[in-house]
Amino acid sequence: MLRYAIDSGVNYINLDCPAHRAQRKRLAGIVGRGLREGYRNRVKIAACLPSSLMDSSPDFDRYLDEVTGWLRVDRLDFFAFGGLDRETWPVLRGLNLFPRAEKAMADGRIEKLGFAFRDDYQTLRAILDGYGNWSFVQFPFSFMDSDHRPGIGGLNLAASRGLAVVVTEPLKGGRLTRNIPESIARIWTEATPQRPPAEWGLRWVWDNPEVSTVVSDMSSIAQLAQNLALADEATAETLTVPEQVLISRVREAYRKLRPIPCTGCRSCIPCPRDIDAPRIFELYNDAVMYGDVATARSLYQLEKHNIDNCDECNDCARACGRHIPIPDKLKIAQGLLGGK
Ligand code: SF4
Ligand code: SF4
Repeated sequence: MLRYAIDSGVNYINLDCPAHRAQRKRLAGIVGRGLREGYRNRVKIAACLPSSLMDSSPDFDRYLDEVTGWLRVDRLDFFAFGGLDRETWPVLRGLNLFPRAEKAMADGRIEKLGFAFRDDYQTLRAILDGYGNWSFVQFPFSFMDSDHRPGIGGLNLAASRGLAVVVTEPLKGGRLTRNIPESIARIWTEATPQRPPAEWGLRWVWDNPEVSTVVSDMSSIAQLAQNLALADEATAETLTVPEQVLISRVREAYRKLRPIPCTGCRSCIPCPRDIDAPRIFELYNDAVMYGDVATARSLYQLEKHNIDNCDECNDCARACGRHIPIPDKLKIAQGLLGGK
């Protein structure tokens, strides 16, 4: 699949960075094998370093050497600090890794430095303000993420600072193409021309000229061939106004399925017990809206949410303009997402 993709014009290979070392090793080993016999020189390789696992500045070189060794390459074209958000960014800064990264750029082990991001616009701006030598940023972006984490505002901000933007999860990890609720399927069938939801989703992302490239997980040759054909044809700023309206209707129809009417305004934050109610509600709403409890549950547990510390002080509920009974709703969310 990898070689077919490269032979067909794919020129950017993005290596994910799972938290488990064995998974990272296996993934890099497979990609490294695919890139032998001259394929390495036909693509740019992007890899990332799991920021949450960093403990000291030598870790930077250790992780870089590890991934280049597994890939059997002597340099990476793009290297990103993985999983930056409001929690990991201050820790990473404190570890003083930038001199190490700059040395790696100077001696050619990496060409461009960036970061993979998962948080809101303000956090993105803080990271961009906090270091001046970023070349690219990578974050999830789909028509359902137009206004948050970090949304179109974040896309424009990064592009205006001269960063390349690499979009991941353009179809929300398949959630926009599987288990499509009836109310949404009906809107898609009214579309002219008729296109599969995956095609609408990808075209919407590609339509933004600030997007430099899109990386999407693919699991079969047929899916790859389909996406390659689409990428050849779809260009920025080509969606018509009726097509934009159609996608807005789908977005609104999805939002109507959210069981908790949380807007993500974050007026209920900070919580004295460090509970991130807006994020928990987002995960819970996504589970219901996309009919995908497994993904929401694994994110809930990966992000280590836990409401057991909540003392029901109700500070959050008093601050909520939508009058959401937050402690009660948190219990419902934990009931669904906290289990196995
Ligand atoms: S009720 Fe619970 S979640 Fe809300 S502010 Fe108090 S401790 Fe935090
Ligand atoms: S204040 Fe209410 S609407 Fe705003 S993020 Fe908190 S729960 Fe959601």
